[in-house]
Amino acid sequence: MKKVKVAFFDFTCCEGCQLQVANMGEMLLDVLDLIEVVEFREVMSEKSNDYDVAIVEGSITTSHAVERIKKIRKTAKVLIAYGSCAAIGGINGMKNNFKLKEIREYVYQKDAKHFDTIPTHAVHQVVPVDYTVPGCPVYIPEFIQVLKAALSGLPYNVPDNAVCVECKLNENECMFDKGVTCLGPITRAGCNSWCINNGNICYGCRGMVSNPAENGQKDILEKHKISLEWIENKMNMYNKSRELGELK
Ligand code: SF4
Ligand code: SF4
Ligand code: SF4
Repeated sequence: MKKVKVAFFDFTCCEGCQLQVANMGEMLLDVLDLIEVVEFREVMSEKSNDYDVAIVEGSITTSHAVERIKKIRKTAKVLIAYGSCAAIGGINGMKNNFKLKEIREYVYQKDAKHFDTIPTHAVHQVVPVDYTVPGCPVYIPEFIQVLKAALSGLPYNVPDNAVCVECKLNENECMFDKGVTCLGPITRAGCNSWCINNGNICYGCRGMVSNPAENGQKDILEKHKISLEWIENKMNMYNKSRELGELK
């Protein structure tokens, strides 16, 4: 059987999602029979312009990146955006809190004019995306599920219910009951409440659900004396690119 050629690409990011995939170990065996990896900077030096599936990490933050992702889109039959930087803009979106000129000068000082920069966009805001795997970093069981769906031509929709659902199914004690604030009630599930299972809070890394239960949220905030501004500020960490439309 002819193997599907898969290439991994990175844009603005910390490469933590690539690292997650590179460390997949035995779980990778599940799909290795089906694919031929032709480019993956973190594990091999070969490059290729011939691939069927492009798996893209990182957000689009320069005009050079816009041209590059458009070329990748033209070549790939299927494009998967993986990791929150690619899927929703992620942490890089915090740049969008500032005026572009000011933030560029703050970061690059006297050399600012030499550095190309645009507001941070998620990949789908620049080119059409076929599959999305949010998460900072990606949750590998979901990544494999999406890769298998892509290889079989089946759809995959990122869950649009709150992390709390998975957290309850995992029978975790709620962080709010321990006096700690958690963004699970307004964050998209799909990570199997990964952080809470490991004693941490949810930081909202998978992005906000499209229809948060506002009244329920207000009750929680009032009960635990948390201001809406505080929550908005926390959600700003991953969701800032959401406010941008598609890049024209
Ligand atoms: S989503 Fe998080 S872990 Fe993945 S590349 Fe971006 S910053 Fe790194
Ligand atoms: S710990 Fe967080 S995710 Fe879990 S139920 Fe409580 S608020 Fe929801
Ligand atoms: S629990 Fe929250 S912060 Fe942790 S992986 Fe899931 S969505 Fe991200």
